[in-house]
Amino acid sequence: MTIAAVSTPRAAGGIAVIRISGEDALGIAEKIFDGKRPTQMQGYTCAYGRITDGTEVIDDAVVTVFRAPHSYTGEDVCEISCHGGIYVSERILSLLYENGASPAAAGEFTERAFLNGKMDLTSAEAVMDMISAQGRAYLRKAENVKSGHLYRRIAGYRDRLVTLLGNISAWIDYPEEDIPGISDSEIISELSDIESGLSAISRSYYNSQLIRNGIDTVIIGKPNVGKSTLMNALAGCDRSIVTSVPGTTRDIIEESIRIGETVLRIADTAGIRDTEDIVENAGIERAIERAKRADLVIAVFDNSLPFTDEDEKICGVECEKRIACVNKSDEEGKFDESRLHGFDSVIHISAKNGDISELEKLLSGEFIETADEFLINERQKKCLDRAQACIAEARGSVGNITLDAINIVLDDALSALLELTGERVSDTVVSEVFSHFCVGK
Ligand code: GDP
Repeated sequence: MTIAAVSTPRAAGGIAVIRISGEDALGIAEKIFDGKRPTQMQGYTCAYGRITDGTEVIDDAVVTVFRAPHSYTGEDVCEISCHGGIYVSERILSLLYENGASPAAAGEFTERAFLNGKMDLTSAEAVMDMISAQGRAYLRKAENVKSGHLYRRIAGYRDRLVTLLGNISAWIDYPEEDIPGISDSEIISELSDIESGLSAISRSYYNSQLIRNGIDTVIIGKPNVGKSTLMNALAGCDRSIVTSVPGTTRDIIEESIRIGETVLRIADTAGIRDTEDIVENAGIERAIERAKRADLVIAVFDNSLPFTDEDEKICGVECEKRIACVNKSDEEGKFDESRLHGFDSVIHISAKNGDISELEKLLSGEFIETADEFLINERQKKCLDRAQACIAEARGSVGNITLDAINIVLDDALSALLELTGERVSDTVVSEVFSHFCVGK
């Protein structure tokens, strides 16, 4: 079946690109193109001409021809670059349908590329990541996966598992032959090595989430220390209510703020304060609970006031990463900083004066591990987890169960890795992956 779709966004623009892929791609294009004949053109060449429905000229356009297998999908592909109007591009698309093309489903071009062996499943998934990238770190990691780095790394472990499975099978099946034996300790050592390799890859998941979704951040502190002022300074405009009456920020307001490479999703929470006020107490509980689920806590303290029991309470707030910001550094210092504890960093700011460079520097770039090469998505993480669990089970069972039984568990580990790369994957998983793509990609 030959499919067609507009690959550029459905909006007015300089040009629109309509992509056709399949056996009849060039023939169908030829029916509506008045110019050089696409079926006679070489791959990687283009021609200028007119798009016509037989009676009326619709647009002038450039067609580019890609011949199988040297195209994105691995099939014959023709791309029509026309004027970037919504009506023009839709009209040309309708003409293609009238001449035998079928509408492409979401991600169908990339799905065909995957099914035709042009790319593995991780590379295909990275195509959408590249499209949605909004920063350098994200783009770089997505590009790494798209170029097959993740696939090659997984394939390395896949091959080691296959070799191990083969050696164990040979040893079981042909005990009388002159096959060198494989000792329990050799099996354990190889499995431990593969397991730690996979777990290193799997650890990228946390960072990938931070890059994809932004860092879930909670600003916490007593009333009046300057949390709202800080949030406004970070966001660059007045988004939370700033007042000098303690306890005004009662509800949680969320903002997404980009600082260099880092995107923070900031919840500005109610102050932590020992109080009888029911409304504010509810806010305090929420702030503490919210902090536990967050990726980062920015705890704000007031430089102009002494350290109190409430500040001590804030030091005990639990979170993955904690930064202490001693605010109002423009005022005379009465705050005993040496009593702060449990923080990854202690910095000084003056939110009111917009002097938050220490915080910006800390957050910008350094927060997200730049060492991680990959963006790992949830599907891939689940496959990795499954493979790791099977390998751990096999490793722990060496000596206790038969080698046959160990091979069965290792085969499950192998299946999980093959599902990750898409080498052995169900149609349901493939459809699920591509259903998240945009039409035309
Ligand atoms: P919140 O209750 O923690 O959200 O505190 P606000 O942001 O409402 O600030 C409380 C008061 O502290 C306001 O009057 C702010 O202008 C003031 N304030 C905030 N940041 C600073 C600062 O860096 N220096 C000084 N001197 N005052 C500040």
